[in-house]
Amino acid sequence: MSSHSVRVRFAPSPTGPLHLGGIRTALYNYLFAKKHGGTFILRIEDTDRKRFVENSELYILNTLKWCHIEPDEGVGYGGPYYPYYQSKRIDIYHLYINQLLKKGYAYYAFDTDKDIDKKRKEYNKRGLTFSYNSIIRMDLNNSLTLTTEQLHDKLRSCSYVIRFKIKPGEKLKMYDIIRGNIIVDTDHLDDKILLKSDGAPTYHLANTIDDHLMKITHVIRGEEWLSSTFLHVLLYKAFGWSLPHFAHLPLILRNNGKGKISKRNTGSLNFPIYPIQWKIPKTKIIIPGYRELGYLPEAFVNMLALLGWNPGVEKEIFSLQELIHLFSLEKINKSGVYFDIKKINWFNKKHLNKKKEEIFAFLFEEIKTRSILCKKDYLWKVIHLTINRIHFIHEIWKHSFYFFVSPSSYEDNFFNKICHKNTILQLDNAKILLYDMNPFTSVNLKFLFQTIKNKHKIMPLFRLALVGSLKGIDIFIILEMLGKQESIRRIEKLINRIKEKI
Ligand code: GLU
Repeated sequence: MSSHSVRVRFAPSPTGPLHLGGIRTALYNYLFAKKHGGTFILRIEDTDRKRFVENSELYILNTLKWCHIEPDEGVGYGGPYYPYYQSKRIDIYHLYINQLLKKGYAYYAFDTDKDIDKKRKEYNKRGLTFSYNSIIRMDLNNSLTLTTEQLHDKLRSCSYVIRFKIKPGEKLKMYDIIRGNIIVDTDHLDDKILLKSDGAPTYHLANTIDDHLMKITHVIRGEEWLSSTFLHVLLYKAFGWSLPHFAHLPLILRNNGKGKISKRNTGSLNFPIYPIQWKIPKTKIIIPGYRELGYLPEAFVNMLALLGWNPGVEKEIFSLQELIHLFSLEKINKSGVYFDIKKINWFNKKHLNKKKEEIFAFLFEEIKTRSILCKKDYLWKVIHLTINRIHFIHEIWKHSFYFFVSPSSYEDNFFNKICHKNTILQLDNAKILLYDMNPFTSVNLKFLFQTIKNKHKIMPLFRLALVGSLKGIDIFIILEMLGKQESIRRIEKLINRIKEKI
């Protein structure tokens, strides 16, 4: 296979927003396609109208855009295998199901849900498990048990489904790039429905036909589809088509060890599950996603890429280009992976570090809205001094405000503790030292204060005066940044506050 012929697809059903597992599947497909100079396709599997949720498609497109992993072909992008909506390909599926019927790989079944339920109960009573399989199908109402005449009659008057006819007694082997060889005894497979009574194909039929017609070379999808793959392999064989390569991705597990994450458990998780915000159609309630919570798409994608794939190098921070370069299906884990919110915060911090211009613009807006005047150089210095303390861009003000404004209040606990005459005396003395310091640099200040007796008491007092709490960067740098006048002004402000209180 020439590497240029790689064609992969992301094939979501429009049943709601994508969760972490869904977007990771898209990402791995994208990385694999790009690595091999191939094509990444978006196909919308929308034949199950009952499960359709409005706005899902737009959500999927917007998510892929936000992550910078846009398809080359498919819904929203066009391409030679149009249409990329399964709902618009129904005629194609009918054409192919007829081939299966003719070749004897499929049959009509007329059993209603009620009939099947009744049979199931009968079997259960006898201590047997019911399954629409090669043995029990002969006890049911289908074209295998009816005469030709009965069949024609039924086809005219009853609704029916079309089922795949599993050939029993075979050892079916398939190869998965991640899991290796997997073998199943066809005696354990049931005759799955391929065409529903409303004429719509099931996932198995439509998915397989489309993968073949769209010349998909690698089927990369979640582990939950692994068991269906045997049927897909049988379908390929029945049609006489060659198989694509398969790679089934490990599940993403909840960190409380209670199974996989899904759209259903959004509320009970302590981390966001959606990449971008989702507005629940019925209630109009908005659930924020990683984007709204301040995560960078680069960090989100970086975290997601490593959630189940091990690049085999020590480095953990990667750009999308680096991920493409390193990606390989063989290095994907077999077992489920746990999601760790702390790790994604760390990824965000690391990627944010590369976004100084954006942080500058953000901080500039913050000070502009507060009508604070300050030089660009000063702003840059503040950013360099505080960038390592933030995980999110919106945290920059919280960690740097004291470079622009005097604290409006003081941390209660500490303030109450130091609220006595002695503190005033200490601050007054320290103030004199500051007055005399020339040039007023952090190096000089540090040197000076190292020599004084009660330095351990004075330093926290300075911090309280300048920052309002015991937080912040190196106190001598803060002093230098604020300058002599402003530093002394803030110390006097604290002295006055103490005087008011005692
Ligand atoms: N429509 C399926 C889904 O919603 C696609 C599974 C596959 O990729 O084969 O995930």
